[in-house]
Amino acid sequence: MSRILILHTGGTIGMTRTADGYQPDGEYFRQAIFHMDSLKAQGMPKWDFMETDPLLDSSRMTVSEWNTIGRIISDHYEEYDGFVILHGTDTMAYTASALSFMLRNLNKPVILTGSQIPLCETRSDGRDNLITSMIIAGSGKVREVCIYFGGVLLRGNRTTKYSADGMQAFVSPNYPALASAGISIQYHEGTLLKQSYDRFAYRPFADVPIGVIKVFPGIRFELFESILTDKLKGVVIETFGSGNVPDDRGVLLPMLKKAKENGTVVVVCSQCPQATVDMNAYEAGSILRDAGAVSGRDMTTEAAVAKLYYLFNIYDDPMRIKYSMERNIRGELTQKNDL
Ligand code: ASP
Repeated sequence: MSRILILHTGGTIGMTRTADGYQPDGEYFRQAIFHMDSLKAQGMPKWDFMETDPLLDSSRMTVSEWNTIGRIISDHYEEYDGFVILHGTDTMAYTASALSFMLRNLNKPVILTGSQIPLCETRSDGRDNLITSMIIAGSGKVREVCIYFGGVLLRGNRTTKYSADGMQAFVSPNYPALASAGISIQYHEGTLLKQSYDRFAYRPFADVPIGVIKVFPGIRFELFESILTDKLKGVVIETFGSGNVPDDRGVLLPMLKKAKENGTVVVVCSQCPQATVDMNAYEAGSILRDAGAVSGRDMTTEAAVAKLYYLFNIYDDPMRIKYSMERNIRGELTQKNDL
């Protein structure tokens, strides 16, 4: 019989209505979960329950909360067979990405889930999301950080929030689902990360300054000059298509040169959810390549941001960080030789 730790961090699933809108309600949620018959049904894993303090709407999560979640998993790693993290959907993909890097040689499932409708409401999707996450966490099949939501299990660092209204809130545009939960749960074995034989380790992130810039037609790059200082360690540029930017060489090129001198790592991702960055495909992308930017390949912005935090925690040398950014560490990107 598997043992799972359920960790409640906040989010819609455990919220109740207040005059200012939904807010986390730990007391309500504790009562609800301890009275949920399906969680005690035969065949369900045994579980313990913990919560972080304070419970948060996930839009308020920071690096410090990622570290707290990672620390709790690490402190209880040997006691449990898996972890179900109840979390708000707004930044779930960021937390999942961060945990995937923070938790090295993970050999147990860490499943993040939540709901679009609070558990206190009749039509809540929270019940199925929680119950199915528990079954998956207790199955012994998964050894990575995932998001289970709306019938699909996705690799956490491949996931992005797609819908604020629908019951399938998340997509994984550049990597297939790990499992689908219909009448039975079908695991897509070839997609899952393999067992690690090295020792599990937890590595918290320091709060290094990271930025994200989304380009748009007519963007005035000079307005961003003031943030591209030596204080900024890494920046993700969300470009058009396969890595293209507007023609503003007079401003952009000197800016990128300065960023390089400052040791700022510039990572190119795409605004298209389904894309692989290739700065050689168009002349409009070559400026980034020539200025020393690195390709985020098919990584989500969420994964690129989390990976920058991770790499700046283990390396000082920007060249080392650039090299690792383009390589697969936790299944977050498709490397050229993977194809
Ligand atoms: N604002 C909520 C949160 O991210 C949304 C949700 O959980 O669905 O905490």
